[in-house]
Amino acid sequence: MSARVIGHALDNSPQNPILIEDEEDNEEAQGQEQDLNGDVKMDDLTSGSDSDYTKYWIDWFLSSKGNEYFCEVDEEYIIDRFNLTGLNSEVQHYVQALDLITDSLEEELDDDMREQVEKSARHLYGLIHARFIITSRGLSKMLEKYKKAEFGRCPRVLCVNQPLLPVGLSDQPYTKSVKLYCPRCEDIYNPKSTRHANIDGAYYGSTFPHMLFQVYPHLLPPKNTERYIPKIFGFKIHEIAKQHRWQDQQREEQQRRIAANNSNNNNEGGADNNINNP
Ligand SMILES: [Zn+2]
Repeated sequence: MSARVIGHALDNSPQNPILIEDEEDNEEAQGQEQDLNGDVKMDDLTSGSDSDYTKYWIDWFLSSKGNEYFCEVDEEYIIDRFNLTGLNSEVQHYVQALDLITDSLEEELDDDMREQVEKSARHLYGLIHARFIITSRGLSKMLEKYKKAEFGRCPRVLCVNQPLLPVGLSDQPYTKSVKLYCPRCEDIYNPKSTRHANIDGAYYGSTFPHMLFQVYPHLLPPKNTERYIPKIFGFKIHEIAKQHRWQDQQREEQQRRIAANNSNNNNEGGADNNINNP
């Protein structure tokens, strides 16, 4: 398993780096420690670190209520400046926000400033997230969430609980909130919870779900041609309406032809009489 370097994420040149294993490994390690000693040696993992405030920002963000649709963006992806091209002009307090996300913010900030940087960090994470989830690594992470139906299921009865995928209607932030796309009926839905309904759609982007099925075409659910048929007392109202429209059309057409024919007959002495029946 890979290890995260805390405190030196940006320059990537750890002098005396503090290493922490992946979360899974931690749990495993902690479990073992507990089994053996009945006590967790967290000190070994976090010694020498700054205050808890600046630790594991992404873990905190992902575990916050309402952020369930986000996946964990790999730290390697975030620290590669190339991936963040252009975002510095889109996010206020960009440098501090990025430091906060990568747990390397050492500056002391007053409460007001911290709040602003915190807000910027959430926005920045969202924008990075939109880019990350259309990379192969990001797609596979989102695929795992999709398989567990973490984005909810299609409310349409004939879609038989088809899991949904988040989608943005725009790639521009502050335009439209996130929607949920059903690959079976190919329609979009509002998230049930208002927490999710308020997430900016640009944090997912308009490409993501479609890219996912480009990369994993075998996962595309089969199209369901079955349709709900509205009926009144057992009669298909659509059918009746369609038939009525067709009958009206036929009548009008016939009346037009008769009128045209009559005028022809008047002009040519009734020689021609060819009404084409449909
Ligand atoms: Zn559906």
